[in-house]
Amino acid sequence: MIKLKREEIQNLVQSELPEISMASDNDSLFNYGKDWIDFYVPDPSIILFPKHNAEVIRIVSFANKFSIPIVPSGGRTGLSGGATATGLEMVVSLKNMSSVIDFNAEDETITVQAGMSTQALQLEAEAKDLYFPIDFASKGTSCIGGNIATNAGGIHVIRYGMIREWVVGLKVITPLGQEMKLNNGLIKNNTGYDLRHLFIGSEGTLGIITEATIKLTRKPRETVVGILGVHDIQNVPKILSLFKKDLVLVAFEFFTNIALNHAIEYGGFSYALTRDHNNYVIFEIENLHEKGIDDLDQVISNLHRLGYIHEDAIAMDPSSINNVWKHRETIPVALTRFQPYKNDISVRTSNIPDLIIEMNLLLNTQYPDFSIVWFGHIGDGNLHVNILKPNTWTPSEFKAACDIVNEKVCQLVEKFEGSVSAEHGIGLIKKPFLRFSKSELEIEFMRSIKKIFDPNSIMNPGKIF
Ligand SMILES: Cc1cc2nc3c(=O)[nH]c(=O)nc-3n(C[C@H](O)[C@H](O)[C@H](O)COP(=O)(O)OP(=O)(O)OC[C@H]3O[C@@H](n4cnc5c(N)ncnc54)[C@H](O)[C@@H]3O)c2cc1C
Repeated sequence: MIKLKREEIQNLVQSELPEISMASDNDSLFNYGKDWIDFYVPDPSIILFPKHNAEVIRIVSFANKFSIPIVPSGGRTGLSGGATATGLEMVVSLKNMSSVIDFNAEDETITVQAGMSTQALQLEAEAKDLYFPIDFASKGTSCIGGNIATNAGGIHVIRYGMIREWVVGLKVITPLGQEMKLNNGLIKNNTGYDLRHLFIGSEGTLGIITEATIKLTRKPRETVVGILGVHDIQNVPKILSLFKKDLVLVAFEFFTNIALNHAIEYGGFSYALTRDHNNYVIFEIENLHEKGIDDLDQVISNLHRLGYIHEDAIAMDPSSINNVWKHRETIPVALTRFQPYKNDISVRTSNIPDLIIEMNLLLNTQYPDFSIVWFGHIGDGNLHVNILKPNTWTPSEFKAACDIVNEKVCQLVEKFEGSVSAEHGIGLIKKPFLRFSKSELEIEFMRSIKKIFDPNSIMNPGKIF
């Protein structure tokens, strides 16, 4: 699509958009041209840093006039290549748009610019004695716009849902440069199609999200966190059932001993148990009433009696809670140096035991020479299966080998009517596998929607499909 060369685009931008902050040095082009996935070579033409909506509109109008594609960019912590620019696109970073626009105490809503980080929004909520429940290890860097564009999940989905549940209003700039306000912070609004929900999970393909109104909630009462040592992975779903039955679960995470060993090697926390186990669960419960801890004690004793768990450690004060969470949160960061091929699959939780048996069999036969690391938000039916790159393989050889096996992984996910991307999105990396979770008809409708919003195909083209 691009006919212009890099220097021509840079010169055009400088002459047509002189008021907008921009960068074109090699470091910026590299850093803003990619997300956390290392399989693509970043090659944007220029990086733009608008400060307000009017500047975003100017950029999008310019992109249409000269047919230059745009890649909307948040914190670039994405795990699907969605924010990757590989073909001289202009990257539009919202890092200079990170302010609070409005707080409404009565409605318990906050309106922020889309470049605000996830953690900054959590802190804004806390300062108002309220709570924003979307939480995961990249929160310090990921942005609200990126979270909404990927319909982010994280560790609290089991209690609070994905970010979709919390977005009550959006302001977006369409690919034709129109400003559109959606839903106005309303709880109830049945006036036909709710376009807000199309933008949630749109991965930058339908427009640039510039502002979001987020519903906040009351802070959880006291929370208690624990780590459990589990020998048999097949017992994890049974443990989940017992927790769900008797306690208010806020998080229920799983990882294997291989995953934990990578985290321990990376460091930054002290091991909370006394010996090794094959698998681990970290749970968080909200202690809603005085006898909450007694309930937990009973569940834990029951789990020991049934032989489902072999060791437990409970954390109640903030510093031990923080330490226990590090066992799980350090895993994805610790694996980064192995340039892992990431699977982010989900099935209904009732299908997890069967999926685990079949997936284990498949991966052990298909990847005899690769190290496989399992972890994930198992309470939501979501597993991250990471295949680590041996250092003798080049990234492209490794990706090609994994793509072949991934067809089989996706067939298995399709058999369970699951999703090939539970929370990371499709971006570039999962494009070949979208067909395992969406029918041809559904993909055709998605393409048609994209065409209506973006007739000139300038908004993150080539992503999702
Ligand atoms: C260590 C680690 C742990 C993680 N854990 C989780 C987890 O538990 N759960 C989870 O869901 N994700 C997780 N992620 C993935 C990632 O953090 C999320 O997908 C996050 O929501 C991406 O936000 P971002 O601002 O970094 O987006 P980016 O990576 O910058 O962009 C992601 C996509 O959104 C688009 N986009 C960005 N901003 C806008 C905008 N303003 N308007 C329109 N489109 C836009 C981009 O074009 C791209 O397609 C993790 C990542 C890391 C590195």
